[in-house]
Amino acid sequence: MNAWWAGAVPRKSCQARFLEAAHWLWHHTKVVARSFLKPLVDSYSGSEMSHDSLTQTTKARSFGATPHLDGVSAAGSVSEKPALLAARVEHFRRPTERPFLRSERERVTCLFGGLTYRHERLMEASFQGMGYRAARIHTPTKADYDTGRECCSPGMCNPVYFTVGALVNYLKRLRDIEGLTVGQILDGYVFVTTGSCGPCRFGMYESEFRLALRNSGFDGFRVVVFQQKAGANQSSRDDGIEVNAEFARRLVTALMIGDLLNDLAHQIRPYEVNPGETECVLEEALERVCTFLRLERTGGRGAKCEVQSARCDVLGVHRGILRDWGGVLLQVIRNRYGRVLGECMQLIDGIGVDYTWPRALCKVTGEFWAQMTEGDGNFGMFSFVESQGGEVMVEPITTWLVYLLDSAVCRTREVRSAGRSMHVRIVHNFGAWIVYLRKVAMLKTVSYLIRREYERMRRALGGMPHPLASMSELRELARPFFNDRITGGEGHMEVGKTLYYSVKGLSHMVLSLKPFGCLPSTQSDGVQRAALSYYGRQGYDILFLPVETSGEGEIGARGRVLMALEQAKARCEREFEACVEKTGYAVEDLRGYCACHGELRRPFQRVCKRKGIVGRAANFVLNIASRMDTERDRRSLERAGVDAAIRARSG
Ligand code: SF4
Repeated sequence: MNAWWAGAVPRKSCQARFLEAAHWLWHHTKVVARSFLKPLVDSYSGSEMSHDSLTQTTKARSFGATPHLDGVSAAGSVSEKPALLAARVEHFRRPTERPFLRSERERVTCLFGGLTYRHERLMEASFQGMGYRAARIHTPTKADYDTGRECCSPGMCNPVYFTVGALVNYLKRLRDIEGLTVGQILDGYVFVTTGSCGPCRFGMYESEFRLALRNSGFDGFRVVVFQQKAGANQSSRDDGIEVNAEFARRLVTALMIGDLLNDLAHQIRPYEVNPGETECVLEEALERVCTFLRLERTGGRGAKCEVQSARCDVLGVHRGILRDWGGVLLQVIRNRYGRVLGECMQLIDGIGVDYTWPRALCKVTGEFWAQMTEGDGNFGMFSFVESQGGEVMVEPITTWLVYLLDSAVCRTREVRSAGRSMHVRIVHNFGAWIVYLRKVAMLKTVSYLIRREYERMRRALGGMPHPLASMSELRELARPFFNDRITGGEGHMEVGKTLYYSVKGLSHMVLSLKPFGCLPSTQSDGVQRAALSYYGRQGYDILFLPVETSGEGEIGARGRVLMALEQAKARCEREFEACVEKTGYAVEDLRGYCACHGELRRPFQRVCKRKGIVGRAANFVLNIASRMDTERDRRSLERAGVDAAIRARSG
């Protein structure tokens, strides 16, 4: 029975029913009138466009398109289309490129470059270990920069000029010196690089590579681009380069080992007793790791894994999953690179060092490429600082990987929580909530595994390389001055790193290297002043120097660095002298003691860092002095014991 008739709902009054009927009549009259009158109005409006088309045209204009070229003139008449203008406008189209196919893998060489020498050697070995032909392009020089300027668009950042120029000159050498024809080069080589959608000019690198290759006579040369934020699966089975979990694992591992070996080189070289020994020994260590990477089998290709793989097939699991993820699992479970890194450590430990000479610790930050490259791209700044009595602390590429993951987690969280309460999120969109949780968990797990692996390798190298900076600490330090949602370049990390390494007493000075006109770095430099003055009021004396690098201006940049380095050296020497004075020994005594003890000349000896003391030499003399004190006490105790024994016997 209807509840209304049963009296569950109170009966409506006559007046209410009348109002309801009037409302219904008014509404339907409006609908009918609109449907009859609209064609009439449109036909009488003549050249006036309908509301919809006007809206579309306005939208098109606002996005920079030219609506009249699509067949409708500004006056709305098709017959008035300016045909000549339409013929002249030629929109940019990404050239259709011949794909690099799996079937070509055996005869096509993958070229890559733009990183440091050790990173590139290790990546080359990793590529070869996965069955690719690979070759590294030389470290970019000033001549490459000039070539890049000739072939690329004007107004780009100098990393693109340097790296593009290096590629073009490499191909020219293949053509002019090794005698390959352009056809052979186009068939036999591809260039592998990373890309991005911006927000800075990094998003235009891909098109600049193609433009430069076309301008230099290598039109049709293939450039394979991986998006740095697109994750591990970016290719299909037929692609020449199969980007999957195994590929990502190997390359990330190569980058991490490169970071660690570079770090060791920069820590040991300023203190080496025999000039050039560090480079020779590290080259040998690098070769060992490269051999290991070349011979390393892919996760699912080992005999044991094949058996497991077959079992998985029986259970209905795809064989490829184990092949792709088997290596990742094995690396998580086992300390896969511990043995080879341990061998490297034994080798490097044979280098003779003298840590009693003070060296100003110079942390290098700035734009990703400028702070990392070892050649003319940053005026050879690392070797220059070392030659002037400094010790360089470089930033590992792994920090950048962790930063990308950390930013992705923050962004995902913010997008998810924008304008919604927890209750609404769960109740109304449960499926999306699960997807969100899975994504955040995945990103955090990958970030954790990368940090864990880095730490494990660091320990395998005696714990001497610097640990990775904490992302949350960097964010918290930078937050009052730089919004961490601003991306592009190093984002908030430039400000965060300056404060992290200065406030925590980890360096004497911070040198920020950035290409000329780099927008993200210019933003950071703008707020660094505020950060420095704030911390200056708190009692921190931060020595920070931003330097813009370009193809020119080397002398000016080096001069500025030298002036700041002198200040840093003065700080370092003052600190050292204060520490020597505190020990109560003369510095010659301390050096003489070290010369008599071979273990104090090993690079991997443990140097405890005291709170508030930055320099390695200052910390080292305090360590030596406490060891000398202990020995002196023991000797005097022994002597006292002997004297007492003699007295007892004679008594
Ligand atoms: S971070 Fe700076 S130098 Fe690097 S691509 Fe972006 S704008 Fe250019």
